[in-house]
Amino acid sequence: PYKGPSKEDVLAMRKQHLSPSLFLHFKKPVMIVEGKMQYLFDERGRRYLDAFAGIVTVSVGHCHPEVNKAIHAQNELLQHTTTIYLNPQVAEYAKELADRMPGNLKVVYFVNSGSEANDMAIMLARLHTRNWDVLCLRNAYHGMSIGTMGTCGHHTWKQPMPQGFGYHHALNPDPYHGAHGDNGPAYAADVADLISAATPGQVAAFIAETIQGVGGTVPLASGYLPAVYKMVRDAGGVCIADEVQTGFGRTGSHYWGFQRQGVVPDIVTMAKGIGNGLPLAAVVTTPEIAASMASRLHFNTYGGNPVCSAGGRAVLRVVDQEKRQEHCKEVGDHLISRLKALAAKHDIIGDVRGAGLMLGLEMVKDRKTKEPAKAELAAVMETMKDEGVLMGKGGLHGNVFRIKPPMCFSRADADYLVDVMDLAIGKL
Ligand code: PMP
Repeated sequence: PYKGPSKEDVLAMRKQHLSPSLFLHFKKPVMIVEGKMQYLFDERGRRYLDAFAGIVTVSVGHCHPEVNKAIHAQNELLQHTTTIYLNPQVAEYAKELADRMPGNLKVVYFVNSGSEANDMAIMLARLHTRNWDVLCLRNAYHGMSIGTMGTCGHHTWKQPMPQGFGYHHALNPDPYHGAHGDNGPAYAADVADLISAATPGQVAAFIAETIQGVGGTVPLASGYLPAVYKMVRDAGGVCIADEVQTGFGRTGSHYWGFQRQGVVPDIVTMAKGIGNGLPLAAVVTTPEIAASMASRLHFNTYGGNPVCSAGGRAVLRVVDQEKRQEHCKEVGDHLISRLKALAAKHDIIGDVRGAGLMLGLEMVKDRKTKEPAKAELAAVMETMKDEGVLMGKGGLHGNVFRIKPPMCFSRADADYLVDVMDLAIGKL
């Protein structure tokens, strides 16, 4: 049993010594002290079904035995030296990751977080193209560093200071809220307009998530990426896919999110699920683009350290061996059909969307005006927590449930989640 400080003491220490801009998901906060696959345990030993996986980070399961075994073995052998010496772990890991990429995406940079990966991707794009302007999407999230803050498309994530120079936000190709429904090429016209109106006609990059995560699980409208990738390349730019949430089979139909739109990016960034909770992230690009940064040295103290590399390699193995992509498709299809049935019963559910185990459910006060049902969602989320299910939320107005559990989430877990949501909505 747990023997540490009480929840109240932890909250008091956090208030005094941690960032005052941290946020909690619940009115009555939950303290989590243990995790096992798709379950989390609080200080009293109470079990919760985890439908948010540490914000889509725990990919194959909390404390997955295979990943832990690999981390422990490497911990015993060698923890750290940096890339000034050769070490097999990082080299084999880079090869294994590159083997899973399409096209000529063969060069890997290891870093420590998604923000850092996107910073590096934008730097590579600018150096390679010798252009400056970067196109991003409204409603996007790519990180909290000084470099990536400017790419985000929510005021929530922007400090009141210059947002960097040369970031331009295109109309979001949002099938539920957007003016053009699921017609991707219609939204792409705005990118052409931005290139001609807001840039010198030449751009460095376009960056997007294929299904926006923080923005509330918003899949980009069909046919959007092929149209935009062409425009961006015609304007001298490269295309960056942020796979921080959508990678490693989570969307079920494909291993990488961008494959859902049939495109091959020039630069791919990864974080979160890549390490199942380890601080690990990567940028993968082509040898040609990588060469553009090679006139100067590159160094990152923890990037590709042996312990994280061993853990990352184990994640790749587990996703394959346990057929997690197929599992995400199967359980995700079942879950989405049950959520759609729930939407037929409750008017407050405006939209159910996403793919595999990356789903979103938007709550609205009125299906016509789509007015956000923010307080209602918070109430449902609190009740679900009390019934043992931890949900995620997102969207600018906090009125979208984000259901992105560890990929070992079962069909029975999915049924339990929907039954509890039904009960919680009934209580409104
Ligand atoms: N890209 C996406 C799509 C993300 O969801 C996040 C984190 N929520 C990031 C980048 C930034 O990752 P990190 O918090 O590791 O810097």
